[in-house]
Amino acid sequence: MSHGGDSSYLVNGAAESERTRREGAASGGDGDPHTILRQVFGFDDFRGQQEQVVRHVIAGGDALVIMPTGGGKSLCYQLPALLRPGVAVVVSPLIALMQDQVGALRQLGLRAAFINSTLTFGGARELEQEMVRGGIDLVYVAPERLTQPRFLELLDQTPLALFAIDEAHCVSQWGHDFRPEYRQLTILHQRYPDVPRIALTATADEPTRRDIAERLQLESARRFISSFDRPNITYRVVVRDNPRRQLLRFIRNEHAGDAGIVYCLSRKRTEHIAAWLNTQGITAVPYHAGLDAGTRQANQRRFIEEEGVVVVATIAFGMGIDKPDVRFVAHLDLPRSIEAYYQETGRAGRDGLPADAWMCYGAGDVIIHQQFIDNSEAPEQQKWIERNKLSALLGYCETTLCRRQVLLRYFGEAYDGPCGACDTCIMPIERFDGTELAQKAMSCIYRTGQCYGSAYIADVLTGARNERIIRARHDQLSTHGIGRDLPRKKWLSILRQLLAAGLIAVDPAHGGMRLTERARPVLRGDQPIWLRADPSMPVSGKAGGGPKAAKADSGGAAGAAAPSVASALTGEKQKDLFDRLRALRLELARQQNVPPYVIFADRTLLEMAATQPRTAGQLAELHGVGQTKLERYGEVFLDAIAEEVG
Ligand code: ADP
Ligand code: ZN
Repeated sequence: MSHGGDSSYLVNGAAESERTRREGAASGGDGDPHTILRQVFGFDDFRGQQEQVVRHVIAGGDALVIMPTGGGKSLCYQLPALLRPGVAVVVSPLIALMQDQVGALRQLGLRAAFINSTLTFGGARELEQEMVRGGIDLVYVAPERLTQPRFLELLDQTPLALFAIDEAHCVSQWGHDFRPEYRQLTILHQRYPDVPRIALTATADEPTRRDIAERLQLESARRFISSFDRPNITYRVVVRDNPRRQLLRFIRNEHAGDAGIVYCLSRKRTEHIAAWLNTQGITAVPYHAGLDAGTRQANQRRFIEEEGVVVVATIAFGMGIDKPDVRFVAHLDLPRSIEAYYQETGRAGRDGLPADAWMCYGAGDVIIHQQFIDNSEAPEQQKWIERNKLSALLGYCETTLCRRQVLLRYFGEAYDGPCGACDTCIMPIERFDGTELAQKAMSCIYRTGQCYGSAYIADVLTGARNERIIRARHDQLSTHGIGRDLPRKKWLSILRQLLAAGLIAVDPAHGGMRLTERARPVLRGDQPIWLRADPSMPVSGKAGGGPKAAKADSGGAAGAAAPSVASALTGEKQKDLFDRLRALRLELARQQNVPPYVIFADRTLLEMAATQPRTAGQLAELHGVGQTKLERYGEVFLDAIAEEVG
């Protein structure tokens, strides 16, 4: 992308922003967060805790903000950046992320820039002068650059509005993207104690959160923790029979013309699947770490700058991609853990419009993962942890409960459910009263001392007499062999389901299973527990059908590329208008070499197609239409609407 750091861009941006501001003031923009939200960002309301965060930071407070992907973290520092005097400095780990954000902010008419190695010497000098003058709203910088003495000297002379530390989990070794340079960021607090700091992350687990607060010296910062629920994502797991055909059917029936990500385990497979999708009329590109940098970049760029491209990728793809209109994330292979699954599926639907998380799951995956763990060089302790994570994920695949409930509970969040937007809620699976089986399994866990893993418990239940069991004298227990009438595999599945239901828990220290409080009423017989009739069949053979089968008319044939979001529109006329507006958006994006979504979000185009505004005033009321965008694009879009509607 070229909305880079050339200084001409900066000067344009600055001029426009000042104009916006003057007009804002003239029309009553008096520094009220709500006014700025409408005038600059084009949004009517704050989302979730945004308003509390924004007000806290504007007042000069430190904040630790934990929000899921797509929750709207950026606004939490972008809006205060406009309302506090001086320059806001945003620390970000990846150049791609900085470019995206700066590009989008400039479209809003803000004075934003990034400082990194792609800047020319002259460009950097000019930018530095602007900073010292306070002639810039937001500056994005990588942590290693920020902590250089030269840059700190520059900051000493710059009027500072705030520091925002994005992707703050990078400071923690517990997290998944540890960046040692983040550790140096404590200097901000020491050197500029009066400048508010706001750290943001989508990390769900508590040890990492605690680590962030400690490492960044934000112990006394106010914490804003949001729910991790992603209500617009529908979760679905189908049993694998013919994965290619299942994937094809899913895309054709529900996501023709949509952008999406398909995750595969191996590099080779990503290439095969991508090539094959293309032969079926679906535009797809592969992405994995083994491709040369040029190809990788080109494929990523197509995904971001074109519309309706599918990326078939290994887990190497995703970090630093914040494309808001990804309509589906499909897993053709089992992910590594629930954390990984949630992170990967979280890339769908950042814009808040409906999106799908679809997984195709087969017993073979389990074996591959198990062997992978068994054969790894990792210490035994680590292997235990990995096995438990795998086990929790399988529990998720096989659950009869609301999937959202299982996911959120895994992250320690109480969620009562049912959500009504996952496959188990929409098409309840056949279940049977498994109370007695659950009691048998749980007494066996109890009698063996609550310190063994599921394989061992299943062995004891089925009456195995291996060396370990005999040495522990567990062949003498009353529970030894009480589960003989079921195959071992079934017991493993029951144990996973109990784990998923929260009746048993795994001790992270030694990997043994123990009973939880929730087990008590089931053991006493006060509460029944329902199990999946055929545990190896998560959704009974109806792969590809699923919750949205009803709207399968949205383009059965290849090439009919009506995006799924358009199904919210009524009538051909609205759909035609939407297509036309989309084409206009793409043309404008190409001219400026920016992704289409920074011109207008899908939601904005949907609202245009549905309400068909005639005047600038009507247009300005729509989602995402702030003053600058109205000035830049209002006329062309109004013309297109008038022409199409007549
Ligand atoms: P995160 O960084 O938490 O993943 P973003 O800051 O990228 O999320 O925001 C996700 C999407 O939500 C963006 O498309 C953004 O424009 C939109 N958004 C953020 N805040 C609001 C709001 N108050 N109203 C409407 N849309 C919003
Ligand atoms: Zn549900």
